[in-house]
Amino acid sequence: MTFENLNLIEPILRAVKKEGYTTPTPIQAQAIPLVLNRKDILGCAQTGTGKTAAFAIPIIQLLSREINHHADKRPTRSLILTPTRELAIQIGESFAAYGHHTNLRYHVIFGGVNQNSQVNALRKGVDILVATPGRLLDLMNQGHVKLDSIQFFVLDEADRMLDMGFVNDVKKVIARLPRKRQSLFFSATMPPAIVQLADTILVNPSKVSVTPVSSTVDTINQSVYFVDKKNKKNLLIEVLKGETIDRALVFTRTKHGADKVTRDLSRAGIMAEAIHGNKSQNARQKALNNFKSRQTRVLVATDIAARGIDIDDLSHVINFELPNIPESYVHRIGRTGRAGANGSAIAFCDAEEKAFLNDIQRLIGRQIPETINESYPLLNNTITAEAPKSQGKRIGSNRGHWRKRIA
Ligand code: AMP
Repeated sequence: MTFENLNLIEPILRAVKKEGYTTPTPIQAQAIPLVLNRKDILGCAQTGTGKTAAFAIPIIQLLSREINHHADKRPTRSLILTPTRELAIQIGESFAAYGHHTNLRYHVIFGGVNQNSQVNALRKGVDILVATPGRLLDLMNQGHVKLDSIQFFVLDEADRMLDMGFVNDVKKVIARLPRKRQSLFFSATMPPAIVQLADTILVNPSKVSVTPVSSTVDTINQSVYFVDKKNKKNLLIEVLKGETIDRALVFTRTKHGADKVTRDLSRAGIMAEAIHGNKSQNARQKALNNFKSRQTRVLVATDIAARGIDIDDLSHVINFELPNIPESYVHRIGRTGRAGANGSAIAFCDAEEKAFLNDIQRLIGRQIPETINESYPLLNNTITAEAPKSQGKRIGSNRGHWRKRIA
């Protein structure tokens, strides 16, 4: 199965290719034809399965058939509701990527930030709106969002919505949607409350589901060092110099962090390059090629930049900073230990990241064993700055993920 087999329009095929995807994931292969055939979907799939593209690609295709370029203000024709700001941003980025060669406009709205820029974007008109429920309701109540032209409604991570107490907000939003619409409903788990909610939204839905690869992390040797933030750099240099690390993919949370780690390693005589969103596609490709051909030993990446990249025989993934989204940890470490090969995933955790570590351990359903480094133990165990927020409670202990493979 290829993306060409899915009858996608050329601008989408081009965008997908640019993302480096060669084969649709199982959920994409199942859902895309159904959505294009205007079916409602009840999807049992979690983050990491490629479900975003499974709904974003066919929605882009159907919407791009009729863009009214001359309309003063574009009506919002698609609404994607998702529980967290991080997911909303990621979904927005996916629409931007897959819809890059179409003229569709999208915007992401979420709470916790000033609403002005969101209101301005809405005033200009957007075809696709990605939103978290609370802020959406706020803006609807203030008259900034009209949902009467919605043709496609996606409820993403429905079980998490329920978990986080958003179900009433979600119901209020749904009550304002036109009855005649196509609805896509995704949830990682299907407890009775979720099935009931789905029944109120969907009409004669097609069911699609993917079984998670729960053994993803089984082949990977995981460990964590507890270390002070200020000593992470020295620990990284020591680990890279000491252990028999052939090549390592090092993850940071931010672009700035990636650049800094790269500079520090280079100064210590370790060949490293960074890939992140501020670098051009060419620069990223060059850094990736250098790493693949073993000219550089360390590739430093942010989660977004590392999307879709696959490196054969990668022995080590180092989480220089822990991700605030637990699923990202599973994605990150899934880059090593492929096809039964031995891989190691090393995490550096400072006092402030312990909440992230807890979320990760809950998600993967196990404790990550600690490795002690005598030179750089965790001395400062108090959280000085604002503690990082942990993600909401998750259902299910071992949510594996679909592993990407790109030749
Ligand atoms: P999602 O489950 O939508 O969060 O996607 C998980 C990850 O898989 C993201 O990093 C996507 O960029 C990536 N992805 C989605 N579809 C494909 C595909 N067909 N091939 C390779 N990677 C993909």
